[in-house]
Amino acid sequence: MFDAVMIEKSADGAQTVHIGPVEDARLPDGDVTVRVEWSTLNYKDALAITGRGPIVRQFPMVPGIDFAGVVELSARADIPPGTRVVLNGWGVGERWWGGLAGRARVKGDWLVQLPEAFTTRQAMAIGTAGYTAMLCVMALERQGLTPERGPVLVTGASGGVGSVAVMLLARLGYHVAAVTGRPEEEDYLRALGAAEILPRSGFSTPGRPLEKAYWAGAVDVAGGVVLANVCAAMLPNGAVTACGLAADMAFPATVAPFILRGVTLVGIDSVMCPRPQRIEAWRRLAELTDPTRLESMVTEIALADVPQAAAALLDGRMRGRIVVRIP
Ligand code: NDP
Repeated sequence: MFDAVMIEKSADGAQTVHIGPVEDARLPDGDVTVRVEWSTLNYKDALAITGRGPIVRQFPMVPGIDFAGVVELSARADIPPGTRVVLNGWGVGERWWGGLAGRARVKGDWLVQLPEAFTTRQAMAIGTAGYTAMLCVMALERQGLTPERGPVLVTGASGGVGSVAVMLLARLGYHVAAVTGRPEEEDYLRALGAAEILPRSGFSTPGRPLEKAYWAGAVDVAGGVVLANVCAAMLPNGAVTACGLAADMAFPATVAPFILRGVTLVGIDSVMCPRPQRIEAWRRLAELTDPTRLESMVTEIALADVPQAAAALLDGRMRGRIVVRIP
């Protein structure tokens, strides 16, 4: 038996969430069984658990799009028992039972060996949000971004992706401007490395197709009008990564930044990201993460606290990253 969060749907379509013991025999098919040591709550998990977004594709479902732990049983010679692993995405917690549980059985191809630098708790302090932030930074670098090109902008800076993006970009030597709706988080964001704090209100109302050009690069988690305004304020040949929809799924923009300033908009999908890029992202994270700054992002909770924390995350009341202790 192991403890798990379980989402069920009744015949009348109502969703319920239980936390309790589950028998090993109910684990799905897979060639590797992992003892999950730490899990986390991402934005997508919060949508799944609260039922506020159509994330779960089949019920009953153990949510949790990521986990870190130790291999217990394996049919794969290259992933022997005892290997420390991390999993992000691949539909886990959506189509396949996920990480908010003491045990997970998955395809070995989905696992990445955890770099020596990290404990399993630190891996989940980074989690899918932080790995996505790293994918965003790597995408900006592929577009030729360097600190000499100019300042960079991070939206949703107090959230999971935003906090890690601020830390990584500052560590790489960029002048980082952090956009937040929570001015009370200024000290937190400056301690992560932000050089400027900008109010979210300056980006939330529709602007002009082209604004004064400020930013050489940007990491956007908001979408909607925020992303349109970010694109409008990019320097010539600047690059923006779009990874989220914390504000809106819509993209009410014009093509002006793209055709008149050569701006590039790069989409980021962490779920189906090819394995070599994942391995590179975790390698770079190990190189660039400051353990003290990472710990400053963490709120630690127990499995029993998950439903309440999921609602708080979607209401914008959680800062940084939530790690979940697995008994
Ligand atoms: P969080 O909830 O931790 O952070 C989101 C942040 O966005 C909030 O903390 C807040 O920051 C800001 N925000 C909230 N509402 C608005 C709004 N209306 N307008 C502008 N900003 C807002 O979530 P994550 O950081 O984990 O995820 C962020 C987004 O990225 C989500 O949409 C998530 O689904 C997506 N994502 C996508 C991935 C991918 O593969 N493409 C992978 C991981 C996440 P503040 O208070 O500082 O303004």
